[in-house]
Amino acid sequence: METLRFQVVGEAFKKKPLTDVSSTERPASYFGKKVFNREKMYKYLPKDIYAKMIDVMENGAALERNVADAVAEGMKQWATENGVTHYTHWFQPLTEGTAEKHDSFIEHDGKGGMVEEFTGKLLVQQEPDASSFPSGGIRSTFEARGYSAWDPTSPVFIIDDTLCIPTVFISYTGEALDYKAPLLRALHAVNVAATEVCHYFDPSVKKVTSNLGWEQEYFLVDEGLYSARPDLLLTGRTLMGHDSAKNQQMEDHYFGSIPERVAAFMRELEVVALELGIPCKTRHNEVAPNQFELAPIFEETNLAVDHNMLLMSVMKRVARKHGFRVLLHEKPFAGINGSGKHNNWSLSTDNGILLHAPGKTPEQNLRFATFIVETLMGVYRHNGLLKASIMSATNAHRLGANEAPPAIISSFLGRQVSELLDHIERADRDDLLAMGGKQGLKMDIPEIPELLIDNTDRNRTSPFAFTGNRFEFRAVGSEANCASAMIALNSAVAEALVSFKKRVDARIAATSAALAGTEHNATFHAIIDTLREDIRTCKPIRFDGNGYSDEWKAEAARRGLDVETSCPVIFERYLDAESVQMFESLGVMTRKELEARNEVKWETYTKKIQIEARVLGDLSMNHIIPVATNYQSRLLANIESMHKVFPTMKADALSARNLKLVEEIAERTSSIETQVEELVAARKVANRIADEHQKAIAYHDTVAPFLDSIRRQIDKLELIVDDACWPLPKYRELLFIR
Ligand code: ADP
Ligand code: MG
Repeated sequence: METLRFQVVGEAFKKKPLTDVSSTERPASYFGKKVFNREKMYKYLPKDIYAKMIDVMENGAALERNVADAVAEGMKQWATENGVTHYTHWFQPLTEGTAEKHDSFIEHDGKGGMVEEFTGKLLVQQEPDASSFPSGGIRSTFEARGYSAWDPTSPVFIIDDTLCIPTVFISYTGEALDYKAPLLRALHAVNVAATEVCHYFDPSVKKVTSNLGWEQEYFLVDEGLYSARPDLLLTGRTLMGHDSAKNQQMEDHYFGSIPERVAAFMRELEVVALELGIPCKTRHNEVAPNQFELAPIFEETNLAVDHNMLLMSVMKRVARKHGFRVLLHEKPFAGINGSGKHNNWSLSTDNGILLHAPGKTPEQNLRFATFIVETLMGVYRHNGLLKASIMSATNAHRLGANEAPPAIISSFLGRQVSELLDHIERADRDDLLAMGGKQGLKMDIPEIPELLIDNTDRNRTSPFAFTGNRFEFRAVGSEANCASAMIALNSAVAEALVSFKKRVDARIAATSAALAGTEHNATFHAIIDTLREDIRTCKPIRFDGNGYSDEWKAEAARRGLDVETSCPVIFERYLDAESVQMFESLGVMTRKELEARNEVKWETYTKKIQIEARVLGDLSMNHIIPVATNYQSRLLANIESMHKVFPTMKADALSARNLKLVEEIAERTSSIETQVEELVAARKVANRIADEHQKAIAYHDTVAPFLDSIRRQIDKLELIVDDACWPLPKYRELLFIR
């Protein structure tokens, strides 16, 4: 039997279960058990309060103080029945993950005892002592306090003994310090803009909802092995490690059955997620060894974002219970696939129409074409910004690598939708739209088979692909808060729809005046003319070919698409005049907010590279070089002994290989040493730059390249140094769960 060099935690790791759901219970019986959802609101709130809360949630009605008090009382009752003692405002700061500060319900009763209290005031607003969350200077310049305020559209839930209240996090002067506040504003903007455009086709539409279905990819590694890798522990990825002799060449993991230990983890994760109201639907192995995916059924975007944030934190806990660590980093291992989080996105109306799905009649398909084209317009106009919205120090490793979308945003539509748009663009206008006498409008818009959804020829290389009834934004990173991409995408589409409506209305007014009294259909003519204009304009964003090819990079540059690959430079797109204008005109973010947020992005980028550089420097100097030198001494001793035993000629011949190894080790260790010194020097220079933007660029240009070049030397050493003394678990150990 193969012996392991490191202690695997494996099944020995036991903790108390995270759920009391028994294995025989059906999901329907515990779905949403830990959520204060409508069913519980109905049960725990007075009827009039319940009705008012529904109005707040569905129509954005103002929340009255007495309603908040009554809701808080109902929540507290439900929570205490479930063993809850604390509550927290749960929010999404600009760092990764979520933040919370727990307070207990207890208050002095004024008679020397304690009462449990939870009022509307505590529910609605709090002032967390959160001065250490990054704010890009907004709070230090203007006002030190940050407030968390309840988001009643996302339900309150229970984790262990704590009632968690989803909140936005804003400064005293109202600037967003989180992801949720601008997301809610963007979703409002797209609702308003899309509803107005829907009215051309159906005046009864009251509301348009943005939908998001994310697909979370992740890796699992054994906790024992993880603990023996300081790089994984401190940076979330391996900074060194030679390819395993076997990795994903066979693609056997993708089709393989899920290992028993992993299956047990997945089962518990799903139960915990379902209890929290996250509608988990699919789970499967991914392409790389130890890589998996979990996807729920799509939901309204704000809720879906909260659920993804919640799932990521729940995953970490459940994984540890099973002796695993979950790696959400976009590229934990070099040489095999990284992890992404496809964002399936669409718009739908309150009367059940999926606006990105083809319909049955020509008129429905004109509406479908409108939403497809205006989505493309948004993506085309803001392709650089969309890339900025998914860019991070960690996702940068994945983009442009061969398994992930390229670092150029383009859109794949598939043959049928491309043909539809080409037809609308080129067909004779009078053929396209003729008044069919008594039958009403006749539109020559080809039918689209309903089977489209299953038939879309999937182009896996496209970062923004149409997949039958939605677009799939595939460039989003596995670790990211989806809100970042959703803020940019929904805003870009909202802006396109606003512009579309303006131009259609102008055309209607012009033709109506000219053709007054004659039989005509000004609205449809105006829509078609505007669409034809836009189909031509946004053509550069359409690309159905191979997004990995070098020809595409050159072609995309010719088309004027953003082809920048440097992460800190890409962030500049947030401050482009078109971006600021878009965000400000829609009321999503102000220039001040955008500037402050960019400071945070640059600072975060710098910190990540800084930490990686330190960890790699330390590991090189106190793990790798000592071990390699030690092995080299053994080789030298062997050569010396050879010469004592054998005549020189024979000893030389027998020691030739070891002598070569001694030399190679000397060359590689001295190269590592020199490069670590250069790396430290580059960091010192960069650290002296005061401007966060320029500092991040310096880290990208002068520090980050050493991470790869030092690693190359270490990975070669890993191949020649005695396996028994190599100080870190290797890829072949990390990547195959036993
Ligand atoms: P894939 O084949 O890419 O794995 P799935 O069919 O598993 O895709 O769906 C991925 C995600 O897309 C799921 O969360 C699903 O609910 C979601 N989804 C399906 N239709 C839509 C839609 N119209 N809008 C948004 N998300 C959707
Ligand atoms: Mg997908």
